[in-house]
Amino acid sequence: MTLEELQAQLENGTLGDPPPPIHRQFAKSPQEFPSIPCEDGRPDCRATPSVLVDSRTMYDWNGEGEDPNRDKIMCRECAADYNEQMDSQWADYNNGRM
Ligand SMILES: [Zn+2]
Repeated sequence: MTLEELQAQLENGTLGDPPPPIHRQFAKSPQEFPSIPCEDGRPDCRATPSVLVDSRTMYDWNGEGEDPNRDKIMCRECAADYNEQMDSQWADYNNGRM
């Protein structure tokens, strides 16, 4: 889609909802990596298979070292925990409690 087409669709209201981010999709259409162990979940969790989970943090990052907002590789259980935790943190943030 070109920018002009996008603009036109925005203006006449035919642009559908954007696709949900991957962490919202993963329950429906999981993209699994059968041989990659969980890396970013609970400490010492090395469960397989893993799924790629969109990072939901917005830490300041000066571009040096590891990106703290990179996407996460986690088993489904840790991914569910992560999303639950992030849902609650963002809810707190949006409600002005953080
Ligand atoms: Zn895990």
